[in-house]
This record gives sequence, C-alpha cells and structure tokens, in this order.
Amino acid sequence: MTHVMLEGLTRRFDDVIAVNNLNLEVESGELIAFLGPSGCGKTTTLRMITGLLLPSEGDVQFDGKSMIAVPTEKRGAVMVFQKHLLFPTMDVARNVGFGLKMAGISKKEIDRRVSEMLELVHLPGFETRRPHELSGGQQQRIALARALIVRPNVLLLDEPLANLDANLRLEMRELIRTIQREMNITSIFVTHDQEEAVMLADRIALMFDGVLQQFDVPKAFYERPNSAEVAHFFRNDNFLAGTRHGDCVETGLGSLAILPDHVTQPDGKVVVTVRPEDIYLAPTSDENLIHVKVLAQVYMGTYKQVQLDVDGNKWLAHGPADLDIREGDTIPIQLPKTHIWLLPPVNGK
Ligand code: ATP
Repeated sequence: MTHVMLEGLTRRFDDVIAVNNLNLEVESGELIAFLGPSGCGKTTTLRMITGLLLPSEGDVQFDGKSMIAVPTEKRGAVMVFQKHLLFPTMDVARNVGFGLKMAGISKKEIDRRVSEMLELVHLPGFETRRPHELSGGQQQRIALARALIVRPNVLLLDEPLANLDANLRLEMRELIRTIQREMNITSIFVTHDQEEAVMLADRIALMFDGVLQQFDVPKAFYERPNSAEVAHFFRNDNFLAGTRHGDCVETGLGSLAILPDHVTQPDGKVVVTVRPEDIYLAPTSDENLIHVKVLAQVYMGTYKQVQLDVDGNKWLAHGPADLDIREGDTIPIQLPKTHIWLLPPVNGK
C-alpha cells in the first residue's frame, strides 16, 4: 500500500501546458479516477507518475519519497494500457509471468503465481493460449494479470475498458474493483466516462485543460459541484442567475429560500442550480414555487423528462412517467431548498 502525492505537477510540450500545477494526494489503497474530456492531461499525468515522462516542474512522491530521480522500473508502479499490448508470440503463461522472469524468480514459483493470477481474473487454464486466440475482454484481463503479478505498489490503468463492449465493461469494472479491494493496491485509472468514474472510484479528480477542477467523492460532483462547468460535465445545465442575501437568493423569478449551512457561495452574485431529478414538478408546498413554461417533454420509460423555460434559461426536470402536462403550458414547479446549490457567477455576472 502506497500513499501517492502530486505536488505542483506541471508538464509542458512546447507552448501546450498539458498538466498545470496539479496538487493531489491519493491515500494508501484508494482507487482514484482521473476524469475529463479528451486532451485534458489525464494520460500525461499517469505517465509522470510511472516515470515514463518527466515533469517540467513539481514532484511525484510515493510514501513521502520523491520519485523524480527514480527510474520507471524501480518505482513499483505498473500501467495497464487501453490497448492490451500483450507479446503476440508468447503464450498467456509467459505473458503473465514476464515481470517475474525479469526479476529472476524461479520457474516453479512463476508457474504457481501465474495460475493464481489466472484464477483471479477468471481465466483459469488459459496458460497455453496465444493472444490472438483470446477475445478483447480476455486480452484485457490477461494484461491486468500481467500487471498485478509483480504485486505493484501503485496500479495505473489508462482507459482499461475503452475497447470493450458494454457487457464486458461492466464485468471488467467489477473485476477491477474486487481485485483492487482484495489486493489493497493504490490505484489510479483514467477515463473520460463520467459513469465509469462514479461506479468505480473512491474519489474522482476532474480535469479540464490540464487544470484540476475538483477532487472529491463521486456524490459531491452531483450535489456540490465547484462550478457551472463541473455541473455541466455531470449533466446538469439548470442555471439561474441571482444574488444571495443570507438565507435567500433574489432571482428574476422572485426570492428563493436556501439553507445557509448547506451552500458555500458567499453573499453577492451567484448561479442557482437544482439537478433535474430534484425539482418537484408536482409541488408539495408554496415554498420556492416558481412558474415556468413547458417547452417539451419526452417519455423515458420510468420517468418523464421535461424541458422548461426558467427565466429564459433551458432547464430539464424529471417527473413521474404519467405526469399530465402539455407543451406550451405554464406550470408551477418547486425548487426544494434542501436541493438548491449555489455556484460562483459565470464571468462575474
Ligand atoms: P485522451 O482522453 O484523448 O487520451 P488525455 O486527457 O489523456 O486525452 P493527454 O494525452 O494527457 O490528454 O494530452 C494532454 C495535452 O498534451 C493534449 O493537448 C495533447 O495534445 C498534448 N500532448 C500529449 N503528449 C504530447 C507530446 N508528446 N507532444 C506534444 N503534445 C502532447
């Protein structure tokens, strides 16, 4: 189990700042997801942690010790790539046992640990197969076994599920989570899939353009996003400008009561948000009742998704599947104060 600390980690490629002053700590045994759109610096960060790439500035520490001068093979961090990168001419046993052979471990011990690993990734008896005789999912599991067999201090996974179909992704997610817990390995994986990060990670580091936006437990990204951009990444675009005064926010649709202890934005300009699933389309009281126009509605099977005009902003709300409303109607909706979250104003407005 290894504690990982990134301190002011920065990497430039000519005039591109791929990773910009990244500071975060991964606790021993934790599973962290680096999440963000393509090109935000996730892979560059992983490569700096393994030592495949040197930072322009900053430090990578394992258990308080700087790794900058330590070569990749001595860091005890292994990386599983998006493409399986198995040795095509070697059978599964030799692929999985490769790291142990390099370390000079005896053949008998390698054989024992290879079969142990193959059990762990649910592929017992696959020792003599060649990579081309395996499905994509099986290849990925062999790549995982090959990484884990050396008992790494830190496991790094670069979009390990990206090439798998939906069912295999689910299976692999569970496998990674179970093995990671069982072996208690500090693990960091990269994904641009928000759902995957939420399902797998203890904490998520969300990055945009090389900058860490929020590092928190998955729930926080839904309930307490740091900014409108973070909320948007987690599929919430319900925004209404206002001005906070203590326990209420003045908006173009009137005053809304808030729970002062629940929000963190100070008095002044704010952006009010309520997630689609937290809006009451069938109000239960007069508190925070606003009148809005129904722009569209879509039946989603288990619920109805309704598009609303909220003071000129397009909002989404989820209501019961049998909700009886018509497009063009003006309806009362309730923004429960327990679910109102305040974001910083966008561009100072
Ligand atoms: P993806 O999800 O598409 O893999 P990512 O978040 O992992 O993206 P990185 O691969 O870390 O992003 O790239 C971050 C930025 O750094 C990008 O703008 C990329 O073009 C740039 N970059 C990465 N590697 C190099 C390199 N070797 N030379 C020049 N620019 C690079």
